[in-house]
Amino acid sequence: MTHVEIPKNYKPLNNETLIDFINGKENLKEIINSKQELKITEVGDGNLNLVFFADSENKSICIKQPLPYVRVLKDWPLTLKRSFFEFEYMKIHSAHVGHLIPKIYDYDKDFCTISMEKLSPHAIMRQGMVKRIKYINFAEHITEYLSKTLFFTSDLYLKAKVKRKYNVVFADNIELCKITEDLVFTEPYIISVRNRWTKPYLNKIKIEIENNTELKIAVNRLKLLFLTKTESLLHGDLHTGSIMCTLKDTKIIDPEFAFYGPMGFDIGALLANLLISFFSQDGHDIKKGDGEIYKKWILETINNVWNSFELKFLNLWKSNPNGDVFSSVFFNAKEEIDVENERKIFLKNIFHDSLGFAAAKMIRRIFGFAHNIDFELIKNEKIRAQCETKCSSLAIKMMVNAKEYENIEALTEDVIKFNTSD
Ligand code: ADP
Ligand code: MG
Repeated sequence: MTHVEIPKNYKPLNNETLIDFINGKENLKEIINSKQELKITEVGDGNLNLVFFADSENKSICIKQPLPYVRVLKDWPLTLKRSFFEFEYMKIHSAHVGHLIPKIYDYDKDFCTISMEKLSPHAIMRQGMVKRIKYINFAEHITEYLSKTLFFTSDLYLKAKVKRKYNVVFADNIELCKITEDLVFTEPYIISVRNRWTKPYLNKIKIEIENNTELKIAVNRLKLLFLTKTESLLHGDLHTGSIMCTLKDTKIIDPEFAFYGPMGFDIGALLANLLISFFSQDGHDIKKGDGEIYKKWILETINNVWNSFELKFLNLWKSNPNGDVFSSVFFNAKEEIDVENERKIFLKNIFHDSLGFAAAKMIRRIFGFAHNIDFELIKNEKIRAQCETKCSSLAIKMMVNAKEYENIEALTEDVIKFNTSD
């Protein structure tokens, strides 16, 4: 069993000890106004960590603490260092997207806690999407987030010596990357005890996946990109469960999987989760077809996410060519057309990476260890299996043929085709 290093003074907090913890910290006492009585609630609905709210009469904070094991699976040890990577990610990105993440108040080296703004009345986006809530500003916000986080930590913007230093810090997030390597890129394609799927309906596709050589080569290409392509400082787990929304506001949480990796991995995670929500909608119908308007909104959102990301990223690149590559020292004004052409080729590659990674994320949520409520809340297994079959059939095509998609509209047209097939 892996040995987890535990700081000398580390203890898992509880409703009582958390009050002493807050009172021991001037910076937190100031925020929460701790002269008043504090109400502590443990709210963690996630898989991995403890999450507490501390509320005084009119102030609140949220405190997240890792346990030396996976919360939902106590015999799975997991490093406490993950909160350090989450904190460092937030710190680096707060310079450009501070308004799209919770305010961070404190990181405690002993207790490994992150104390941050309590987001309220925000709800986890995935839960909102099951209720068919339209987050009309979401595409605008998330494309600002993606374009800025990915551009400002890439070699296109940072000097190599700065980027290499960041890279060194996050290269140590070995254990959480390993979870992704196993659960996303390996296990769904082989026989593994942690896999599960809607049986017996999906048995046939599971066996097809295990025997599909082209698919297994494609997922290995993606895994190699994940291991080697250190393009930007990624969130690493950017699904709709890591996004909290109101109708007006969007905040990104939970970057404990942060690492330097391929830009398409974050974009793909997001696209996959929008696609999963799309394919799950028919399973939530009370009357057949009552999700049509919502499904249309999801597809528009998917189109907007890519198109608006691409535009924003290109603009950032054009206006801030500060890195050691494609910098202004190389080119004069007459060469701008060729440079712009090259930028578009770069983004086309990111687009194809994103589709491949999206496919991997879709497949892992249907055949791997951790599933999503989008499908899981469909109680009728036969109906759930129909939704999952359509979703995974598209994912298999996307992974093998990513490069055949010319643009995002070609993908969303395919989504409609796969969803109407029987
Ligand atoms: P895990 O890694 O264990 O999944 P998360 O960071 O996703 O932990 O947090 C678990 C849950 O706690 C979230 O789904 C959300 O409901 C709640 N939560 C986390 N951070 C905040 C916050 N800053 N404000 C309000 N709720 C939060
Ligand atoms: Mg997490």
